[in-house]
Amino acid sequence: MNYKMFLIKYAEIGTKGKNRYVFEEIMCKRMRALLKKLGSFEVRREYGRIFVEALSDYDYDDVLSALQKVFGVVGICPVVVVEDTSFEKISDAVVEYVDNEFLNKNFTFKSHAKRVNKSYPMSSMELNCEIGAVLLDKFPEMKVDVHNPEVMINVEVRDVAYIYSKTIPGPGGLPVGTNGKGMTLLSGGIDSPVAAYMIAKRGVELEAVYFHAPPYTSERAKQKVVDLAKLVAQYSGPIKLHIINFTDVQLAIYDNCPHDELTIIMKRVFYKMAQDLALANDCQCIITGESIGQVSSQTVQSLSVIDLAADKLPVMRPCIGMDKQEIIDLSEKIGTYETSIQPYEDCCTTFVAKHPVTRPKLDKILESEQALVGKIEELYEKAMNDIEVVICR
Ligand code: ATP
Ligand code: MG
Repeated sequence: MNYKMFLIKYAEIGTKGKNRYVFEEIMCKRMRALLKKLGSFEVRREYGRIFVEALSDYDYDDVLSALQKVFGVVGICPVVVVEDTSFEKISDAVVEYVDNEFLNKNFTFKSHAKRVNKSYPMSSMELNCEIGAVLLDKFPEMKVDVHNPEVMINVEVRDVAYIYSKTIPGPGGLPVGTNGKGMTLLSGGIDSPVAAYMIAKRGVELEAVYFHAPPYTSERAKQKVVDLAKLVAQYSGPIKLHIINFTDVQLAIYDNCPHDELTIIMKRVFYKMAQDLALANDCQCIITGESIGQVSSQTVQSLSVIDLAADKLPVMRPCIGMDKQEIIDLSEKIGTYETSIQPYEDCCTTFVAKHPVTRPKLDKILESEQALVGKIEELYEKAMNDIEVVICR
C-alpha cells in the first residue's frame, strides 16, 4: 500500500505546557535528520499534530525503522491521503484501504469520521453512518462495535481527507536535547550501551568516554566501542566519544596498590577522569552500566566507595535494579547485543585480581590511594591532555 503520509503520535511531551512547541520542534528536527537519507520528506506541525509527508518514493520499512528510533514518538500511523473530498471518492478510498490493509475482514470496527471544514456538505455523524454502511455492504464479515471495536477506521476531512487505522509503536520517551547532557562510561560490554540508551530515552544528549589500555586491550576492542557508540547514536543522535589512553595510569595503580583493591581504585580513577571530562564538555551527569551485585565491584559497598570518587556530579545508573537477563533483553531489542558479545578484552578484566575485595571500606581505599601521590598526577594529566575524539553517528 502506498502511504503518502504518517501521523506521529506522542504522549508525554504533550504535557509540557508552554514548552510543548520546543519539544515538538526538537522531535521534528530529529525526524528530519533521520529521514534525510531515505528520500524527500516534509515533517510539519499542524493542528497540534505532527505529520511526515513523503514527497518522493521511499522504502516503507526503512522509514518506519527510522521513525521508531525517535524518542518522544509513541505511535506511527500510516495515512492514506485523498485529494478529492467528495463523499464518493472518500468512500472508495476507505474501501480500498480496508481491502488492502486487512486480509482477514473478520473483525469489529467503528468508523470515526471528523469533518473539520464546516462547509463540507455532510456532518461528522452523517459521514460516520455512511462510511459504516458502505463498509458493511462491501465486506459483510465486518461487524460494527461502537463501544469496544478491534479496529477504529479514522477518516478526517480537511482540505484533503486522511484515512488511517493502524498504529505502529514508537520507542516513547522524550526527545533528545530536552534534558541536558550526560557523559557515559562506555565499555564494550552489554550493560553500558543499554544504560546510555535508557538515559538518552529520557531526553538526555550523550557524550561517551572509553578507557583504552594498549597493548593490554586491542584496537579491535576499541573499534567495538566505536561500533556500539554508533548503534546507540541511531537513537540518541551523534555521540562525541572520548578515548583515553589509560595504560600508564593503570600500570601505576598496579605497581603501587594492593591487588585485591585494583578494580575499586581503577574505577575511582575512571569516575574522576569522566567527571573532569564531563565538566569540561558541559555535561551535567555521569552515566554507567552498573547493576547491584553483578560483579565484586558492584556490591553496594563497592559502589558506594566508587561513587564517592565523583564528588561534583551525580552518577546515573539506570541498570542498577535490573537482572542481567533484563539488560540482555533490552540490548537485543535496541540492537547492541550482537556487537557487545564479541569477545574482546576489557582493561577491567585484564588487570583483575584473583580475589578482589567485595566489601571495601572507604578509609582503607583512601589509605591505599596515598601510595599513588606523587606518582600518578603527571600520568593523569598526560592522559587527559592526549584524548582521541571520535564523533559517532
Ligand atoms: P558493561 O557490560 O557495561 O561492560 P560490566 O558488567 O562489564 O559492564 P564492569 O566491567 O564492572 O561491568 O563495568 C561497570 C561500568 O563501568 C560499565 O557499565 C561502564 O559504564 C564502566 N566501564 C567499565 N570498563 C570501562 C572502560 N574500559 N571504559 C569506559 N567505561 C568502562
Ligand atoms: Mg564490562
